[in-house]
Amino acid sequence: MKITGTTKITGVFGYPVKHSLSPVFQNAAFEYLGLDYIYIPVEVSPENLGKAIEGIKALSFVGVNLTIPHKKAVIQYIDEIDEEARIIESVNTLVNKDGWLKGYSTDGYGFIRSLKEEKGIDISGKNVFILGAGGSAYAITGVSIKEGVSKIYICNRTGEKAELLKNALSKRLQFQNILVVPFKERNDKKYWKDIDLIVNTTSVGMKEGESSLIDEKNIVSVKLVYDLVYNRKTELIQLAEKNGIPHMDGLLMLIYQGAVSFELWTGMKAPIEIMKRSIHADT
Ligand code: NAP
Repeated sequence: MKITGTTKITGVFGYPVKHSLSPVFQNAAFEYLGLDYIYIPVEVSPENLGKAIEGIKALSFVGVNLTIPHKKAVIQYIDEIDEEARIIESVNTLVNKDGWLKGYSTDGYGFIRSLKEEKGIDISGKNVFILGAGGSAYAITGVSIKEGVSKIYICNRTGEKAELLKNALSKRLQFQNILVVPFKERNDKKYWKDIDLIVNTTSVGMKEGESSLIDEKNIVSVKLVYDLVYNRKTELIQLAEKNGIPHMDGLLMLIYQGAVSFELWTGMKAPIEIMKRSIHADT
């Protein structure tokens, strides 16, 4: 990669950011397509976020990604927000057009696109069981509703947050088929008769030895298991694998959400296979 005075700058702002895999696959994609772009990780503390966002304009960055803990806080500093991002109150991608910053959320699109391109799955008409009610649960729920999902079950350790998610998104998207499952009842067989997809949006599984929140007997009844955790093979994914249930991990979602960001910045189709290969070569 040759950096010159014309190189266009993109990157990721996070805190911490040093473990981010995005620089690996974004730079691999730029290099593969011969694009004069670079992607850099930048550690930005919460108290410096406003100044860092101003810096995007001052330094003429083409755009950036935002990761933990900035996805919500960044909204107050930008000029425009995409409709989907507004609905889920989360921005993970900024595009700088002549000093005008527009915010998008590519997490949900990445999820949908990975299902379609990797497994040929269209989520419309499906029943989805979502574990968690944090930032990524909003993205997955929002995009699933937009894509015509039939029914959504939300189950979170802190029940009030699941209720908040349900109320916010059912109102904003005029969708009434969200059911909150009490955390203690999550393995009750009455919920598992017609689930097509489990999506784990909690951080459970990031540490070795953290058991799956869903019992094996229920995992075998679904058509696909998707776990957003990407730092290791979680117990949930291991159980799906053991039972021959199709499964997808967070690395795929990471790449696909990054691919959508890449396309917003460059206007070119992201080379998914190159991005995937670069990560596997690096880890
Ligand atoms: P978040 O907003 O902090 O939400 C965390 C969620 O995990 C909450 O619902 C929380 O429940 C739940 N949780 C945490 N510890 C738990 C435990 N011991 N038992 C049960 N539930 C627990 O985080 P987020 O941004 O949504 O991210 C969640 C996960 O998704 C992380 O692992 C992150 O790396 C991953 N992620 C991956 C991608 C990707 O592209 N692959 C994108 C975004 C996020 P409470 O509300 O009860 O605390």
